[in-house]
Amino acid sequence: MNKVYDVIILGAGPAGLSAGIYAGRGSLSCLIIEKGQDGGQIALTGDIENYPGGMPDGEPGADLIARMSKQVEKFGAERVSDEVVSANLSGETKIVTCAGGEYLGRTVIIAGGAFPRAIGCRNEEKFIGQGVSYCATCDAFFYRGKQVYVVGGGDSALQEALLLTGFARSVTIIHRRLELRASKSLQEQARANDKISFMLGYTVEELGGDDVLQSMLVKNMETGEVSEIKAGPDDGFFGLFVFIGFDPNSKLFDSVLLMQDGYIVTDELMRTNIPGVFAAGDIRSKTLRQAITAASDGAIAAVEAYNYLN
Ligand code: NAP
Repeated sequence: MNKVYDVIILGAGPAGLSAGIYAGRGSLSCLIIEKGQDGGQIALTGDIENYPGGMPDGEPGADLIARMSKQVEKFGAERVSDEVVSANLSGETKIVTCAGGEYLGRTVIIAGGAFPRAIGCRNEEKFIGQGVSYCATCDAFFYRGKQVYVVGGGDSALQEALLLTGFARSVTIIHRRLELRASKSLQEQARANDKISFMLGYTVEELGGDDVLQSMLVKNMETGEVSEIKAGPDDGFFGLFVFIGFDPNSKLFDSVLLMQDGYIVTDELMRTNIPGVFAAGDIRSKTLRQAITAASDGAIAAVEAYNYLN
């Protein structure tokens, strides 16, 4: 007979780990299921400088997450590395089915976060890992001294472009509109950086090259003109880093949970439309998706799970 946990937490990003800390401290038996490495998006983020109580001069997201993981272990949460393939959430005992087995819980906190969005241009998939990257922290090293392009105009694009200047010879930000979405302070930092230039009002249409990324077609949104960008003769290839937002990891639940644009709808206590099922972090429909708001959601969800059980 499978153990029935008080709480099963899906995902070990800031939301899931925070929920695990609060569940553990509340003496709830707790299992955290994560298919990859802890941290989700935040573990791939170069420099976190706005997490209250974090490092004032910034620190890699992976370091912040490592401390959260240590804390969650201290409070006794069990961990399993597995991928959720389906879930039956309607009964009093929730059944979470993973590739490696079945887990039972009285409550479930869904904290699966979101995954990076792709441009959707021709040949994008072909060059993933061969020029196309969605993680500067992971891949910047491979572009030491090279030309790189960053797609996107939000906080992630500018923050990661700044990180890339530590490696690349030059960084060109390609954004589909003339105005950037990123915060004023990041825009100021990017504009003040000699290595960064901007191609505003452009989209990437097609990628080319033999085995590695050597050319791309870009379109001027105003004139419709398409032009080709090629790798310099001495470079041989260039990098294309894509930071155009995220899509929620919510597909498994879209027939049973209330959704808005693919994000799970909750009330402010993180309760979904199914009793005993909570959602926390970036997977939830909300306005501000930050590590701190994810951690806050996780804490509320765990306390509400406790209240539900009692
Ligand atoms: P975001 O704010 O949603 O920005 C996405 C950017 O990509 C936008 O500029 C958007 O263009 C562009 N875009 C979207 N789809 C596109 C497509 N198909 N082709 C080309 N461009 C496309 O996403 P984000 O920058 O990843 O940030 C996500 C959240 O995390 C935000 O709340 C952000 O504030 C937060 N964040 C904060 C920090 C920080 O505080 N240091 C760092 C990173 C992220 P449009 O502008 O035209 O829509």
